[in-house]
Amino acid sequence: MTEIFNSTYLDSIRGPTFSDITKNIFATQPHLTFLEKIWAAYYTYMSNDTLATGLLFFMVHELMYFGRCLPWFIIDQIPYFRKWKIQPKQIPSNKEQWECLKSVLKSHFLVEALPIWTFHPLCKTLGISVAVPFPSWKTLALQFSVFFVLEDLWHYWFHRLFHYGAFYKYIHKQHHRYAAPFGLAAEYAHPVEVMALGFGTVGFPLLWAYFTRDLHLFTITCWITLRLFQAVDAHSGYDFPWSLHNFVPFWAGAEHHDLHHHYFIGNYASSFRWWDYTLDTEAGPEAKKEREERMKLKAERKAAALAQKNKKIA
Ligand SMILES: [Zn+2]
Ligand SMILES: [Zn+2]
Repeated sequence: MTEIFNSTYLDSIRGPTFSDITKNIFATQPHLTFLEKIWAAYYTYMSNDTLATGLLFFMVHELMYFGRCLPWFIIDQIPYFRKWKIQPKQIPSNKEQWECLKSVLKSHFLVEALPIWTFHPLCKTLGISVAVPFPSWKTLALQFSVFFVLEDLWHYWFHRLFHYGAFYKYIHKQHHRYAAPFGLAAEYAHPVEVMALGFGTVGFPLLWAYFTRDLHLFTITCWITLRLFQAVDAHSGYDFPWSLHNFVPFWAGAEHHDLHHHYFIGNYASSFRWWDYTLDTEAGPEAKKEREERMKLKAERKAAALAQKNKKIA
């Protein structure tokens, strides 16, 4: 049974096929947008909200992740684009990409089998709505911004932790197999890492719902899509003149994360540059040089102050 509409209305629109239901919803709910009508038809057709939500999330993850990786795979095949490759000599071979694809697929099926059956009941407990119409774009924009900022903060600290001793050796090392990343490598990681860093993506919306009781499942679906795009693009290995970070200076993008894979230390955040900048963990030789210069200046200032103090005493 679905809770998207009341049972009397549901009986009036039910039909044997998805297209029958869609037609009935289009005829009786003209005020809804196209996407809202399709969403409502899907939940009505599935007639089982737990399965509908589980399947929706699985499909969105697979389609959006691999759909976003495909253009990067094609770009890797075209030499014209090499001039924008951050590590131009490191082009992933088709064999490497194939091995990575198989591993990511396997991990998707293993890690996601459980959430498929448990996600909807959890949403229901937290009051996450599946009803139509969807929230306004202003609500969506506000919630996406909050989730992006919180996920980035979570990612920064856990990723930094994953670079320590045993955490790196037994967990995070897998993700660093590719010193020159490519789109598909975004989710090439140990299951423990997938779950720990995945909390930043899924956990904050759940906490938000718990505290505000104001979250729609459509918002979570779009947020996960945006976060997947961010992760795949950050691993793409390309920095174009039209890449977002060239217009929004605090956006991390591929240039930021590529340096992390190249040098293994620094640039731990996912979406934004502000934590690595503020906490002095920027990666790469330029950042290192700047850091050393800053330290030298600080030491010189300290020595000068000390000399002044000694002079006064004398
Ligand atoms: Zn790392
Ligand atoms: Zn990475």
